[in-house]
Amino acid sequence: MTKKTPAYGVRAAKGPVARMSIERRDPGPHDVAIEILYCGICHSDVHKVNDDWGTTHFPVVPGHEIVGRVVSQGTSASRFREGDLAGVGCIVDSCRVCPECRAGHEMFCEKGVTFTFDSLEPDGKTWTYGGYSTNMVVDERYVLRIPKGLDPARAAPLLCAGITTYSPLRQFGCKRGDRVAVVGLGGLGHMAVKFAASMGAEVTVLSGSRDEEKDAARLGAKGFVATREPGALEAHEGTFDLLVDTVSAPHDLNKQLTLLRNFGTMVLVGLPPATPLDPFALVHGNKRLAGSNIGGIPETQEMLDYCGKHGVAADVELIKANQINDAYARMGRGDVRYRFVIDGASFGA
Ligand code: NAP
Ligand code: ZN
Ligand code: ZN
Repeated sequence: MTKKTPAYGVRAAKGPVARMSIERRDPGPHDVAIEILYCGICHSDVHKVNDDWGTTHFPVVPGHEIVGRVVSQGTSASRFREGDLAGVGCIVDSCRVCPECRAGHEMFCEKGVTFTFDSLEPDGKTWTYGGYSTNMVVDERYVLRIPKGLDPARAAPLLCAGITTYSPLRQFGCKRGDRVAVVGLGGLGHMAVKFAASMGAEVTVLSGSRDEEKDAARLGAKGFVATREPGALEAHEGTFDLLVDTVSAPHDLNKQLTLLRNFGTMVLVGLPPATPLDPFALVHGNKRLAGSNIGGIPETQEMLDYCGKHGVAADVELIKANQINDAYARMGRGDVRYRFVIDGASFGA
């Protein structure tokens, strides 16, 4: 059995995001049915809709920063009660038994992870549809608890932007006194600044636009570099222990590597198209280049609990479903302060 569900998505690459109807399964024994209250807009939604990565299967219903309320659950589901707040991030299924799943790295499941949208269910034929919709049905193993005290609209972006920046800071040992650079002050970037500052690092924002300097300071940054101003980068060569690159468009990675101190690490989380890399930029100074892909379910819960404890949440601009296309256009221009979040009630209105 399936249920018709109002949603927003696109039927072809770059098409406007428009109202459509999708099918959701009835909750199975281990599923919870969730009424979606809020869904954040990640730049990956925009890449997918534009088919920037050449992998999109249309129609696509984006959205993987979801906070909702549990409305019903299957007979064997026990982790939630009706009325509980629940979060869904980028992952909704995986094999659960391979070494990666057992280690809590479900995004690397050896049998193939099921992402929240534009991904195949374990049956190998049903496509997943994301959070730009009124309801969804998810196996409770992949549903996160939202700590009390967090505003649900401001918590939604934690489910992708939050975990994607928390995880590399933890992996690369961000600690008090470290000099951390965050490149790009968008959805991911502003979360990276908040997390690194809350971990005691001395944070510098590298941004294309000088307009964001005041915001960067408010978010917890001590330093600010307007990357397009002549000589701006040269003044910071050899400075940073860790650089987190969240930029969504092609830019000069080789130049950024000069900003690291010897043995420093540049971790890429942004996913622009392929960019040239000069081995000399890495070899001179024993620089390290890394990447980081979201984070698994246990680490996502750890991140949410950390946010509950430290009062960390996203800065959001709440919009209705009929404003998604304007939001995408603004994200294309870097005009985002700092995450658009869609009111779930507007998907069915
Ligand atoms: P976003 O909110 O649109 O922010 C991206 C920021 O990049 C912008 O605010 C802007 O910051 C900077 N930027 C944009 N165009 C630029 C250009 N031409 N040159 C230099 N900087 C530019 O995007 P987001 O949601 O944070 O996502 C950022 C990237 O991470 C996307 O590519 C997304 O797909 C990827 N992502 C990866 C993962 C993962 O698992 N690794 C997870 C989620 C998202 P300034 O105005 O400050 O320059
Ligand atoms: Zn995302
Ligand atoms: Zn697995």
